[in-house]
Amino acid sequence: MRITSISTHSSQLTRFGFINCYLVREADGFTLIDTTMAGAASKILGVAETLGAPIRRVVLTHAHGDHIGSVDALLDSRPKRSLVASERSKPLLQRPVDKRLQADEPRKEFFGGLPGILSKVTETVGDNEVLGSLRCIATPGHLPGHVSFLDERDGTLFAGDALVAVGRLSVSGWTPWYFPLPEFVMWSKPLALASAQRLMDYPIERFACGHGPVRDGGIPALRQAVDRAG
Ligand SMILES: [Zn+2]
Repeated sequence: MRITSISTHSSQLTRFGFINCYLVREADGFTLIDTTMAGAASKILGVAETLGAPIRRVVLTHAHGDHIGSVDALLDSRPKRSLVASERSKPLLQRPVDKRLQADEPRKEFFGGLPGILSKVTETVGDNEVLGSLRCIATPGHLPGHVSFLDERDGTLFAGDALVAVGRLSVSGWTPWYFPLPEFVMWSKPLALASAQRLMDYPIERFACGHGPVRDGGIPALRQAVDRAG
């Protein structure tokens, strides 16, 4: 597992070269954003120990398997950790998964990549709510219930798969041909684009995505990605 320091507040943890999760330092320890696939729990715990603080909570951007695969193993171990996700993610996280769409959502099916977890969400977080140093921003599109988190101390956006940073910064649904993975499991491209446009209202300095290196460039970089998509 490769560790890349983002700022004094956060680090990127990378498996297989392109699947990321993030440790964000808070006063009481770490918030872990996403978990990569199964089999990463002991490695993630080891990194937190090396960095000198316990993981207090696990926060999920969305329910795809390459983000939630190590949740159960991380929540099984001591000390007890809370599990935070959006309300809309809950039926997509349970096992078996409930893929029914809500009345106000586009009538578009989504496929694959939803293994569910056994752990229960202990705390929900919604648009514009604050969790420690992180502001939750609703970014549906890649999946229903997708949320991103902005560290307001340094402008780092933890974008999950709302944006993709492989090759260049892209809106989910418009990734480069050599990285089609997020496209296979994509839900609504129009909603993903609307979410990316909405992100331009926030003071973002850099993008820490589920896939690809951390990208600087702030709002101008995001505007370029949106222009390429629209
Ligand atoms: Zn995803």
